[in-house]
Amino acid sequence: MRPLHARYPFFRSAREAVEEAEVDLVNVVTSEPAVVERALERIEGALEDADVGETHRRTRVELLSYPVARVIVSLVDEHLLTRKYAFAEARTAHDRFAYDLEQSVELRSVQRQQLTQDLLLAEFDLAEAVRETPDGYAVNVGTYLALAADKRNPEWRLVNRPVRDGEVSIQRSELLALVAQAVKQRVSEGLPLAVPAVIGDELTDECARVRAALADLDLMRDIDTVVPELFPPCMRALLDQVQKGEHLAHHSRFAIASFLTSIGMTTDEIVDLFEVNPGFGEEATRYQVDHIRGETSPTAYSTPSCATMQSYGDCVNMDDLCETIAHPMAYYEKKLDDADEDELTDWREQQTTNS
Ligand code: SF4
Repeated sequence: MRPLHARYPFFRSAREAVEEAEVDLVNVVTSEPAVVERALERIEGALEDADVGETHRRTRVELLSYPVARVIVSLVDEHLLTRKYAFAEARTAHDRFAYDLEQSVELRSVQRQQLTQDLLLAEFDLAEAVRETPDGYAVNVGTYLALAADKRNPEWRLVNRPVRDGEVSIQRSELLALVAQAVKQRVSEGLPLAVPAVIGDELTDECARVRAALADLDLMRDIDTVVPELFPPCMRALLDQVQKGEHLAHHSRFAIASFLTSIGMTTDEIVDLFEVNPGFGEEATRYQVDHIRGETSPTAYSTPSCATMQSYGDCVNMDDLCETIAHPMAYYEKKLDDADEDELTDWREQQTTNS
C-alpha cells in the first residue's frame, strides 16, 4: 500500500493493493477502530463541509477508510447522503490533484509518488480522449458530454463552447473539473453495495451516528436558496410575466409572492427581483408581500398546492417532475436536492457579485 493509494483510494491500483493484501473487511471493522473512525470522519466531513478531511498519517488507515466509508454509506442508503458523499470525495480529490500536479517533479517523486497528469488521465480512461493544444486542451465531444452533463453553469453547455472536428476546447482548470466529475462517477458506481449482515451488525452504531447527522442536516436545511432556474415551471412563468411588466390576476400575484416568501426571500429582495414591473408598483408589492408573510395580517399564507394552481389556470408548462409531486415547493425542494451544490448560485449572491 503506497501513499498515493491513500491519497487517491478510488484509483484502480489502490483497489488492487487492497485485494492483494487480502484485507478482510470483517476483521477491519471489528478490530481496527482507527479505520472505522476515519471512515466516519470522511462521511461527516462530506455532510458538514463537502470535504472528506485531511489524510490520516497511517497509509493503511487512510486507504481502508475509503471502502469502509462506502460500506457505511451503503448501509444508511439515503440518496442525499450518497450524493453528498460522492461529491465530497470528488471535491477533495480535485483539490489534491490540483495541488499535487503543481508540485515540482522533485517534490512529487519524494512526497506524492509521482502523480502525473498522464497517470490521472489514464486512470479514468481519458488519455485517448484528451490532447494538449497550444491554447489548452481538446476533448472528444462524447467524453465531454458524458462528464459535463451534470454541470449547471451555462458556460459548460456545448452551444457555448468552441467545437471543432468533434473536439471541445477547454482550459486546464476545466480539464481538472472534468476529471473530478469522473471521480464522482466512480465513487458513486455500485452504491449502495450489498453488505454482508455480519459487517452491517458491526457498524450499527456508526450508521446511527450518520443517520443523526443526516437528520440534523435536514432540519437545518430550511429551503432558503434562491435559484430561479430551478423554480417550478408555473413560478418561472409567473416571475417572467412580472418581470416583463405584464398584468397578473390577483391569484397569480398571490401565488408567486407566497412562493418567494416561502423560500426565504425578504420583502426587499422580492421587490428587487420584481424590479421592472410598472403594473406591480413597489408600494403595492410591499403591501402584498407583507400581507402574505403575515406581517400586516393575522395569518402567514403558504404557497398554493398544484391542485389550486391548476384550478386557477396558473399551472403551466408542466414537465416530468411535475407528474411526481403535488406542491410547487416539493418540486423546488427536489430540484435543489438533485443539484450539484457547487454549481448552485443563489440569486442573492449574484446580486452581490454584480454590484
Ligand atoms: S404541476 Fe405543480 S409545480 Fe408543476 S407547473 Fe403545475 S403547479 Fe407548478
